[in-house]
Amino acid sequence: MKWTQTLIPTLREAPADAEILSHKLLLRAGLIRKLAGGVYTFLPLGLRALRKVEAIVREEMDRAGAVEVLMPALQPPEIWQQSGRYTTASNVLFKLKDSGGREWLLSPTAEEVITTLAANEINSYRQLPKNFYQVSVKFRDEIRPRFGLMRAKEFIMKDAYSFDASDEGAMASYQKMYDAYTRIFARCGLQAFPVEADTGVIGGNYSHEFMVPADTGENEVAFCEACHYAANLEKATSGIPRTAARETGPAAEKFPTPGVVTIEALSKAPYSVPANRQIKTLVYIADSHTVLVLIRGDDQLNETKLAARTGAAAVRPATVEEIVALLAARPGSLGAVAKIPANLKVFADDRLQGANDMTTGANEDGFHLKNVSIERDIQVTAWFDLRTVSAGEPCVKCAKPLKIRRAIEVGHVFKLGTKYSEALNATFLAADGSRQPLVMGCYGIGVTRTLQAIIEQGNDKDGVVWPLSVAPYQVCLTPLAVAPDSQAMQVAEKFYAELTARGVDVILDDRDERPGVKFKDADLVGFPFRIALGEKSLAKGEVEIKPRSGAMLSVPIDGAVEALMNLMSAGAVK
Ligand SMILES: [Zn+2]
Repeated sequence: MKWTQTLIPTLREAPADAEILSHKLLLRAGLIRKLAGGVYTFLPLGLRALRKVEAIVREEMDRAGAVEVLMPALQPPEIWQQSGRYTTASNVLFKLKDSGGREWLLSPTAEEVITTLAANEINSYRQLPKNFYQVSVKFRDEIRPRFGLMRAKEFIMKDAYSFDASDEGAMASYQKMYDAYTRIFARCGLQAFPVEADTGVIGGNYSHEFMVPADTGENEVAFCEACHYAANLEKATSGIPRTAARETGPAAEKFPTPGVVTIEALSKAPYSVPANRQIKTLVYIADSHTVLVLIRGDDQLNETKLAARTGAAAVRPATVEEIVALLAARPGSLGAVAKIPANLKVFADDRLQGANDMTTGANEDGFHLKNVSIERDIQVTAWFDLRTVSAGEPCVKCAKPLKIRRAIEVGHVFKLGTKYSEALNATFLAADGSRQPLVMGCYGIGVTRTLQAIIEQGNDKDGVVWPLSVAPYQVCLTPLAVAPDSQAMQVAEKFYAELTARGVDVILDDRDERPGVKFKDADLVGFPFRIALGEKSLAKGEVEIKPRSGAMLSVPIDGAVEALMNLMSAGAVK
């Protein structure tokens, strides 16, 4: 490809709405352009890199035994109503109406479609296992699209769905995808690592996310360097000890605390109740049920854990009005000891088990209760791990201190079980003659997001640093004179033909620009190798090979192609 033939609109400055480095570089290197918030056009070079990521994904899916299909982006709402996600995923679903007034959904994912297909086409255990995948455009009604391709309204995702006759079979399918994902991200030059994850609105009972460490990531991961335990903070647990038992009074005792409505205020004189001796009482709406949640004063509630433990599709804090109507007291004076409605469920964090000599709100504005023994004074419906882990807490597996880092989620594997097959009647005839629901797994890779994660991880002050495997072009030939009869251009054309014949992706910068402009652009776009053809070195019978992040080499003209091929095979990501 000749530079003048394609479109590479590099920019000196990124538009102001690009917040993170990879988003800025996608724009500055002329890879994408914004059409509207969260909606982008892929320009020629961005598309080339994207197609290479997709090719790696397809190769590894095929190698793992999955078969490619293509499902419609336009989906009827009925199957989403049948699975229950019409309601539970409604905040991200794009809904539209056709001219006849019929409603449609734009696919954010395809569990319902593939399960409908399986219900019709898979009838016998003899057809199992099966794994179907597609690489296609997906839609998410992001209220606040940001960070470029990281959180877009329209994006490309690879989604795969496995169907097995048994739980063991489903586990084997899961493992194959897990292994394929490990290979995919390694081949994309990404340092991605798997972490235990919450299963969220997709449902299911077992899942891992593949994370790329990045300060700009929207996820937080707790991990242990000693034993490699790693989990999304929404799921992570630690080996932190329970609250220490202490001497306490014979009964809970009310005392006045005028104007005290925070943990911190109660921890100061004249009260001086340390946060770790306070019980924080929170009111939540889990789906349509109101629940009380008890957390130690120095801990934070993890809402994702609350939803997962209570089986709720969505949880939210109750409003002040809802709280006053329920407990006749305002936030800051709430408790679970006295004056709570019968049948109100009380969920307490494990760390409070056995805690005594605690202080909590009295459900009366301006009053608290002391000498509270949680098991004696509070009717706890169920104990759960509900708190968010902090850095430095002991690892749940080996007790070494945990660390927390930010990361970008690029892939997710779920063991779904029979949630969708039961909802959509996808059954098969088992070997023993009985009808059973198909056991499913689902596996996603954000392809456009992976592309951006590669840039987030691979860059320097001059621009993108692509891995060879996904670079839009692997080599940029830079003749410093571009007249057709110049020696520089003639050697460049010869190299171009030879490298192309050897299967190398080459771009020839035939622009009549100053060398500085050409070199700057080549570094900004991030081609792994640049070959400069200048009059001075050509007169000495040499050209200059510059790896994107390595030292320049002068090599003889005749040996240049061979030297480059050697450099490429040495640096290739297999
Ligand atoms: Zn550990």
